[in-house]
Amino acid sequence: MVDDLASAQAKADADVEQVKARRTRDRNRMDAGQITNPKDLERMQHELTSLDRRISTLEDEELEVMEQLEEAQASLAELSGQVAEGDERLSGLVTGRDLKAAEIDAELDRLTGERATAVDGMPDDLLALYEKLRANKDGVGAAELRQRRCNGCQLTIDNAELAVIRALPSNEVVRCEECQRILVRTGESGL
Ligand SMILES: [Zn+2]
Repeated sequence: MVDDLASAQAKADADVEQVKARRTRDRNRMDAGQITNPKDLERMQHELTSLDRRISTLEDEELEVMEQLEEAQASLAELSGQVAEGDERLSGLVTGRDLKAAEIDAELDRLTGERATAVDGMPDDLLALYEKLRANKDGVGAAELRQRRCNGCQLTIDNAELAVIRALPSNEVVRCEECQRILVRTGESGL
């Protein structure tokens, strides 16, 4: 569009120049006294008048093309700006996504490392029990026994069961009677 209008403007400009050159040539011939015959002079006067009109028309047309060209250039600039803005926003989103993905990867690495440390030295049968429970119990295989309550199923352990648990050695695996999860005893267990 801009290219078309630019060549249309160049053409209009060339047309104006061409007619102007002809007018100059005619005037020079008259001024130099080359035309003496009154009829020829009259014809020449007519031609000059019509050339003036033609030039005026062509200049108007050229002006109109120039206005259209300016409008087209302005909307091209605006569109280019919008495209650049879109590109910038997209690149911001991509950067954000990549940062988030890197954060998740780092967190996953950290958790994998933590798990490896926690599992290190754990008896195989206990680990197998934990994995089995984790698979069956919404990803939570072991729960803290806190204030006499199982943090897995949130139920309070009754006094008789608490007495049993209290009597067990600390390396014995304790299970919640209600949800079967491994109960982890701490100083906060209320035993
Ligand atoms: Zn429970």
